Amino acid sequence: MSSSETQKTEATATAAPTATAAAPSAAPTTAGVRPRRPEGRRQPFLKRRKVCRFCAEKIRDVDFKQIPLLRSFLSETGKLISGRTTGNCAKHQRGLTRAVKRARNLSLLPYTSN
Ligand SMILES: [Zn+2]
Repeated sequence: MSSSETQKTEATATAAPTATAAAPSAAPTTAGVRPRRPEGRRQPFLKRRKVCRFCAEKIRDVDFKQIPLLRSFLSETGKLISGRTTGNCAKHQRGLTRAVKRARNLSLLPYTSN
């Protein structure tokens, strides 16, 4: 057992010169490639400014009959997505909520989708 171990160590020792020569040169390059942030500030991705779609398209009042539009503001389960997420302004989010509730009542939109 010990003889085999010595053989192994010998083998590694013989392989070592090239490995040790490669290892120190490889380690600093990988460290250098990694971008290091100064002051430890993290910015994973740039924030994009959200714009209210109704304001952008100059839609005054949200219509409960525009089902494809209303549907785009619903989650997969049929829940309303918050204005914080979609970027809707408060006024249009209120109108949207009302429109979606009306559409649901007329069974144009689902309350839930399962
Ligand atoms: Zn708006």
